[in-house]
Amino acid sequence: MAAKLEDVKGIGPALADKLRSIGVTSIEALAITPPSFISEATGLNIDRAVKICQYARELLKINFISADEYLQRRLKIGKITTGCKALDELLGGGVETLAITEFAGEFGVGKTQLAHQLSVTVQLPRDMGGLGGAALYVDSEGTFRPERILQIASRFNLDGKEALKRIIFARAYNSDHQMLIVSQASSIIEKYNVKLIVVDSLIGHFRGEYAGREMLASRQQKLNRHIHQLLALADAYNLAVIVTNQVMANPATFFGNPNKPTGGHVLAHGSTYRIWLRKGKAGKRIAKIFDSPVHPESECTFMIAENGIVDVE
Ligand code: ATP
Ligand code: MG
Repeated sequence: MAAKLEDVKGIGPALADKLRSIGVTSIEALAITPPSFISEATGLNIDRAVKICQYARELLKINFISADEYLQRRLKIGKITTGCKALDELLGGGVETLAITEFAGEFGVGKTQLAHQLSVTVQLPRDMGGLGGAALYVDSEGTFRPERILQIASRFNLDGKEALKRIIFARAYNSDHQMLIVSQASSIIEKYNVKLIVVDSLIGHFRGEYAGREMLASRQQKLNRHIHQLLALADAYNLAVIVTNQVMANPATFFGNPNKPTGGHVLAHGSTYRIWLRKGKAGKRIAKIFDSPVHPESECTFMIAENGIVDVE
């Protein structure tokens, strides 16, 4: 997009420079930055901050669109292969842009492995199931392993070092830091052509910091803001977002009496697709899609191997 910040009504060169200096480098970034943040960071009064954000959204036409325009936008959806045929089929072709896909399940089930794999496959050219883009990997648990990326990259015939360069890594140390990383992601997304944002795990910090019933409402509010930040990025840049969510469950009763993933209603409404993972026999993993507006409820199996997520032979 050729339009600059200066093209937004109410923004002169001085304000544009100020906005750029706080990381709001484009109209897209302005459209999705909370006015309160802009007001605090630039000293602009809040009414004017609200107005310029509003004008930016109008310029990008992300406020109100007709169903016809909406269909046009949906036609732009990109899909990222998981590298596993069965999982791709379950997802209707792969992980979609313009959406958040949540992978939920107990420890060791393969959520982080999937996050690593997709950070590689997003880099593949489109005719090989990727989007020719980079990944922004937000790690809240310290489980990102570059060595694992090298193994997975070689399976897809990608140069390992190049693949690592196209994964922008950020360790989130607490929930505020996690949200800050996402709120400042615009310039990185533009610079590296990020087509996938990973948040592994989405709610670990939130759960730890907001323990106890009396904290629940504030936790949910904050989580809600975080999820909308992510959805806004998915929307503004036509990129995919995947988040992981640890669920403690007794595998035997997992689906008979499904435990609710942590995050409650906020996450249920925010994430567009929810994939539940559970452990099966002989190292197999079972994935089931829930709550999808377009997919039928169905299941598939996969395995975690030396070279990543693979189909069951
Ligand atoms: P948590 O909730 O604890 O973060 P998770 O769902 O993220 O768990 P992963 O770390 O993705 O779990 O999966 C761990 C599993 O992946 C291990 O138990 C192991 O079975 C498998 N795994 C990891 N690396 C390899 C490898 N190099 N070869 C084969 N299997 C592997
Ligand atoms: Mg993990």
